[in-house]
Amino acid sequence: MNADTDYKNNDPANLPGDFTERMKLQLGNDYGSFISSYTLPYTKALRINTQKVLPVDITRMSRIFTGSENPETVDWCTSGYYYGNHEPGKSVLHDLGAYYIQEASAMLPVTLLDINDSGQKVLDLCAAPGGKTTQIADLMNGRGLLVANEVIPSRAAILSENIERMGVTNALVINEEPAALSARFGGYFDRILVDAPCSGEGMFRKHPEASQQWSLDNVKMCANRQDMILDRAADMLNDGGRIVYSTCTFSPEEDEGSIERFLLHHPDFAVEKMHRIYPHTHRGEGHFAAVLTKIMGSESLNNSSDSSAKTKSKDSSRLPKIPRERLTLLNDFLESTLSSGCKYRQQVTDDPGLLLAFGESIYLAPEIMPDISGLKVLRAGLKLGSFKKMRFEPDHALSHALLFEDALCAVDLDADSEEAKKYITGLTLSCDASVKGWCLVCVEHLGLGWGKASSGVIKNHYPRGLRR
Ligand code: SAM
Repeated sequence: MNADTDYKNNDPANLPGDFTERMKLQLGNDYGSFISSYTLPYTKALRINTQKVLPVDITRMSRIFTGSENPETVDWCTSGYYYGNHEPGKSVLHDLGAYYIQEASAMLPVTLLDINDSGQKVLDLCAAPGGKTTQIADLMNGRGLLVANEVIPSRAAILSENIERMGVTNALVINEEPAALSARFGGYFDRILVDAPCSGEGMFRKHPEASQQWSLDNVKMCANRQDMILDRAADMLNDGGRIVYSTCTFSPEEDEGSIERFLLHHPDFAVEKMHRIYPHTHRGEGHFAAVLTKIMGSESLNNSSDSSAKTKSKDSSRLPKIPRERLTLLNDFLESTLSSGCKYRQQVTDDPGLLLAFGESIYLAPEIMPDISGLKVLRAGLKLGSFKKMRFEPDHALSHALLFEDALCAVDLDADSEEAKKYITGLTLSCDASVKGWCLVCVEHLGLGWGKASSGVIKNHYPRGLRR
């Protein structure tokens, strides 16, 4: 889409009259600047994955991500960068999860959630497609437990793919209603993000067609639904914990209204801060975020000790046990394929109790592992691979968690090389005739996928569904 098309589609005259009238009342003298912003192209941004891209590499790699060696940074997110007429989604660095294309104002809520790598228990309750989940994961640095939940099955599958692409290793991806989760996780989490389904008024510049779906009835329906979701989030927060509620809309029935109604019913919570990004005040499309903290020592009306007791200790959830012969196959694979310094190889060697079996598949569980029995779980930590008869085959997810130095046999390709393009279309690569067995295919030293080397050829194991 070029700037001319953006301008035509974003003619403010096409916005619903009820919406513009409400914004006039809400913004007063600022309305003129607000509505003029609709004649400008929407802002484009991406967030780099600091687990993969080190500060020292940013200048070199940002030319590939953004088309500029000195891209402008997003004020409120240190890993966020703006880009212009560039298509970062086309680079193989996108396929391997070096960055996530994310609207700049959508980077705000996670920065308010107070995430660190001390081993927190974090829930992202409305998580698909995963922009904010992967932002949280970046700050958790593989520690603790990140539960990413999405209620719509097809969206949960996309969430799971994005978590795999970004190389996240400590996430449980779950597909449940908030009520089903709160029945299991009463008073469990330290941090909860409620990036609520909303009327989406902040998306009208990027997706002008979305404005045609807008109605006052829908605003009210979204506000009611947010009340329900926030109540369930409150059930799941522990004492002293923090909820960040966010939307990409401007409507006061949602946003401030949802917070006001929540505080009426939850006297054990306090609102710490509220932020709003408008397209005329900041370089972003629009977001609202509020920080809710649970007062220490408060007795939550909704936290029944019964429900939290259902969260079992980690060992009881790691059933069924891996049969000895399968453990041997896995260890043989790890020793012949991964270097002794690779942390995943070390973790399996040091504590086989971290392994989880689902049918033929085997996962390395997050370091904190709750009871997930009976829940619809799409992913439980890092999928190491699957057993096929008497063989172990590594999973694509494992390749995205690895770096060049983690593998005993690895090839490294340049991001804009013909070889890298060949690999993601599914073609074979050539190698030294002496190389044999599983080989990690990397770009810029970051794992992109697997190949199997034999007689001078690396057979392509890049998943068919991801080839292009
Ligand atoms: N946090 C996501 C991100 O950054 O990529 C975006 C989330 S989007 C704003 C809201 C999500 O809430 C949608 O994926 C939607 O399917 C989900 N949702 C819809 N109804 C829901 C409900 N009743 N309870 C929980 N989530 C719901």
